[in-house]
Amino acid sequence: MESILVLTHADESGAALTRPSLEAVTAGLALAARLSAPLAIGIVAADATAAANSLASTGGRLLAVSGEAFAQPRYATDAAACEALCRAAAATIVLAPGSSRFTRVAAGVAHRLGGFIDTHITSIAGTESVEATRWFYRQRIEAVLSRDARPWFLLLDAGTHAAFTGERASFLVGEVPVELPAIRTTVTGLRSPQQGAETIRPDAKLLFVAGAGWTKKQPDGQTHVAEAADLILGFLRATSASLGSSKSLVDQGGEGQSVLPFLTHLNQIGQTGATPRHPKGLSTCCHGEEPHVVGWRFIAERRAISLDPNCGWTRGKADVVYVADAFPVMAKLNALLDAAKP
Ligand SMILES: Cc1cc2nc3c(=O)[nH]c(=O)nc-3n(C[C@H](O)[C@H](O)[C@H](O)COP(=O)(O)OP(=O)(O)OC[C@H]3O[C@@H](n4cnc5c(N)ncnc54)[C@H](O)[C@@H]3O)c2cc1C
Repeated sequence: MESILVLTHADESGAALTRPSLEAVTAGLALAARLSAPLAIGIVAADATAAANSLASTGGRLLAVSGEAFAQPRYATDAAACEALCRAAAATIVLAPGSSRFTRVAAGVAHRLGGFIDTHITSIAGTESVEATRWFYRQRIEAVLSRDARPWFLLLDAGTHAAFTGERASFLVGEVPVELPAIRTTVTGLRSPQQGAETIRPDAKLLFVAGAGWTKKQPDGQTHVAEAADLILGFLRATSASLGSSKSLVDQGGEGQSVLPFLTHLNQIGQTGATPRHPKGLSTCCHGEEPHVVGWRFIAERRAISLDPNCGWTRGKADVVYVADAFPVMAKLNALLDAAKP
């Protein structure tokens, strides 16, 4: 019989679990129910009490590795913590969020346990065996994997499962002792990239995409890049949308043309960019070519504003296309959002 372990970790507050961790809990509960297998949930946090209380209603066995050494992500301590949790749970299937914290250590932990790992898992099915689904070749081919190797680690992509919520209750968590390895890394703080990253919001309900059209000459023969920047940033401020870009737009920086300074290649959506997951997407001044649109694979509802009635979006790639000038449309939209502010 399989024995399932879900690995989770705390967020920056040190106490609450991250949303991707809670999504992994949902996946673990469903898998354990289908296989009628025992479920354990492992917590890595400075103090695991609050996290454990939030998982009390799962009915799973709760294990924790806690202490100041586990307050910050660090390879040596996180790998030791995950290894200890896996050994304590005698897990054959290990589910973990594909967060930067766990993605960094999971392959190493699987190796230490003589196991196998697959990443970017989007769903898990099967009643007799475990069948894990992931996409290959830039989200063009979907494959279902099963393996005999155990323990089998599955790193889940964020946004693929509902986050677990349940009644909070006081719960006694089983502390798993860890023999700390020599620690060479001291975490002194966090530093974010100066540009771009703060506009990328994976949890946002809406993806707003800017295309190269924003920087092109407009009907008056002039470019209006400063106005474009104001309109885009105003919309992001009002909606907390995540900002994506076409490749053409972010590439312009390297060509010395005038560009929107808050965009970097981190914002790029598409075949050679990101494939984010959002319930809705609004594309503006972008042609909707296939190498771009392939990055919209997981955007549920797609709308576009383009001047070109023959652009890729109008050829069946968007649910709704407004053939219109994005400058006045976005100005009007921002004014409506402003007026609707409480
Ligand atoms: C191997 C390969 C990989 C690639 N990977 C990617 C990728 O990952 N991501 C990506 O985005 N691209 C990628 N591309 C490039 C892609 O094919 C397109 O060239 C790119 O997406 C075009 O960007 P764009 O639509 O912003 O610019 P353009 O093609 O220049 O289109 C600009 C659009 O803006 C419209 N417009 C202009 N002014 C206005 C206005 N005022 N209001 C409304 N609309 C307006 C125009 O009508 C036009 O349709 C890749 C290409 C290759 C060959």
